[in-house]
Amino acid sequence: MTVQPYSFQVGDVPCLIVLDGASMLGAEGILKRFPDATEADYRTAYQEAGFSLDEAQSCFNILLLRIAGETVLVDAGQGGRPRGGQLPEGLKMAGIDPAEVSLVVLTHAHVDHVWGLVSADNVPVFPNARYVLSEMEMVSWKKRIESSSGDQAPLVELLEDRGLELIPMDAPILPGLSAVSLPGHTPGQIGIVLESRGQSLRHMADLLHSPMQFAHPEWSPTFDVDTRLSVASRRAALAQAAESGVLTMFYHLPFPGLGRVKRVAQGFLWEPLHPAP
Ligand SMILES: [Zn+2]
Repeated sequence: MTVQPYSFQVGDVPCLIVLDGASMLGAEGILKRFPDATEADYRTAYQEAGFSLDEAQSCFNILLLRIAGETVLVDAGQGGRPRGGQLPEGLKMAGIDPAEVSLVVLTHAHVDHVWGLVSADNVPVFPNARYVLSEMEMVSWKKRIESSSGDQAPLVELLEDRGLELIPMDAPILPGLSAVSLPGHTPGQIGIVLESRGQSLRHMADLLHSPMQFAHPEWSPTFDVDTRLSVASRRAALAQAAESGVLTMFYHLPFPGLGRVKRVAQGFLWEPLHPAP
């Protein structure tokens, strides 16, 4: 079932978070993904964060915003291969035609962020979009494709044909929109900072994957490529978010993944902003 997208405003910029899909992980899924502690530790951390380990889930939260004359999408979900795939329907519910999307910013090149760019027969889902990705991420993506079955090679070719801009990891994208470096989960992962009329939003991509990582930024999932670096990025970005009190979003937290980070005696605390009923 497609969930009603969550709309909000940052300064003058209308924003929308669309849920591409949500999978139930439960205790078993967390244990499979997180090797650093015990089930009892995870259970306590989930409880203290106001969630239940048995109901642990992974959402795909996709941000759409209209800025500087452009309709920008941040990541594109997994396109139903095999997870996600609800993005087009979610956009439709919000009255948005995929043809309106003029720019897709990719935080990194994992399948749950890029497969939604194309249909199963490699037709672009956003026919008028060009794409932005970090240079560093493209280098590691191409290496990964070379050493695997290469099933994403046609996707990279399509992006390059359609207009792919490779940017440094800290760089302006559009007036009011810029990339910030968040390496570790992948070498070239970027977060997105939106600023308008003194308000701002920080999209933290896959800086973390579970609400228990606020209290325990030292815990990393097995799919963080460089955990030493991902822990350092996590601590630094969470500290900055807590100090500035800025509105923050995370791709994999419970929908819409929007809230504020607070500093507490032990690590950090997540204060989610729930959608209006
Ligand atoms: Zn992800």
